[in-house]
Amino acid sequence: MQKQRLEGKVALITGAASGIGEETVRIFSENGALVVAADIQDELGEKVAASIGSDKVTYKHCDVRDEKQVEETIKFTLEKHGHIDILFSNAGILGSLSSILDLDLNEFDNTMATNVRGAATTIKHAARAMVEKKIKGSIICTTSVSACIGGTGPHGYTTSKHALLGLVRSACSELGAYGIRVNSISPYGVATPLACRAFNLEPHEVEANSCAEANLKGVVLKAKHIAEAALFLASDAAIYISGHNLVVDGGFSLVNRSTNCFAPVYTQ
Ligand code: NAD
Repeated sequence: MQKQRLEGKVALITGAASGIGEETVRIFSENGALVVAADIQDELGEKVAASIGSDKVTYKHCDVRDEKQVEETIKFTLEKHGHIDILFSNAGILGSLSSILDLDLNEFDNTMATNVRGAATTIKHAARAMVEKKIKGSIICTTSVSACIGGTGPHGYTTSKHALLGLVRSACSELGAYGIRVNSISPYGVATPLACRAFNLEPHEVEANSCAEANLKGVVLKAKHIAEAALFLASDAAIYISGHNLVVDGGFSLVNRSTNCFAPVYTQ
């Protein structure tokens, strides 16, 4: 039998009730981790936990915009499992697509509060727990191709994901002294509820759009591919990797499709 890659590890995952977070809960627990799955969608989160088993996954309500709730979630995890080895700070929202000329600043603030302040709060309290218990942990944030280029999401979203990448690098610069690794994953479009809601499309339509725009052909990007990247960064296979943004986009954000002189060869 293949060795489980997170045997004996304790992981906290935010945004765990759906999409990439849910898939990561499943893959982490399949690999031997004890998981606290945190989200604001309580019914969905409880269902995810129940489908895996209460001995492996516990659901905890946590709105990452509220520091008190984040602190309580860390306390809950410590009381239940004694320590935290892995934080997957994944909760995020997209916001609506609008011109910058009509930018809704309340929505902008909410996107920043969730995607940046929420991640900062979660890193703060998880890292405190790791430092106090002398755990050489792994912190992973979900950024996006929108952390690398413009034009792939709403203005608030792109701003927030660029800022989150800065937060990852900044936290890495301090936490390395404690042996704590801090990395991020930048996914290309995945047909999760976030993407389907934003464009009012069915999952297969989101996937068709992503495939049409993709650089790498012949693979449909799924939430499980992002979860596998998180598993790699969480595990000892990535023991000396910190401050890295693992872009899971099949080359999308590096290739300019409009000037790509090889594109016709690919499509023949
Ligand atoms: P999703 O909507 O399926 O999952 C996001 C989860 O975050 C939901 O369960 C939601 O309830 C939770 N959440 C939202 N606000 C929260 C809050 N304040 N506190 C706690 N939980 C909260 O979407 P997803 O695509 O799985 O998104 C996961 C992450 O991946 C996000 O950070 C998103 O920006 C990022 N991402 C997604 C894509 C994509 O195409 N789906 C691409 C790049 C990056």
